[in-house]
Amino acid sequence: MHIRKDDIVEVITGDDSGTKKSPTTGRVLRVLPDEGKVVVEGINRVYKHLKPSRQNAQGGRLSKEMPVDVSNVLLYCATCRRGVRIGRRYAADGHKERYCKKCSNSLGKLSNARQRYATKRT
Ligand SMILES: [Zn+2]
Repeated sequence: MHIRKDDIVEVITGDDSGTKKSPTTGRVLRVLPDEGKVVVEGINRVYKHLKPSRQNAQGGRLSKEMPVDVSNVLLYCATCRRGVRIGRRYAADGHKERYCKKCSNSLGKLSNARQRYATKRT
């Protein structure tokens, strides 16, 4: 999975997808690797109508985000201000990171620095 919990992603398809000018973004609440899906805050929200019950005297609406396919989201790049395709690489100090394939800025560490992957050995 190229998306992790707490990532900011852009939703590119579905009812909640935005436009080029105003992309729809949200924070990843949960990753479901087995299903290849992610739950994104505020995206693909469904409402469940509840009748008044003993636990909930008022009844009403309960909203809940449903998982969306991970292929429908792209990691958001703050520099490009849109969802982008990402790559992985080893940085100079040997940590693995994700980067934006468009502007090549780092999009966060995936692992700690490891000597064997460092380009400049200390
Ligand atoms: Zn970028």
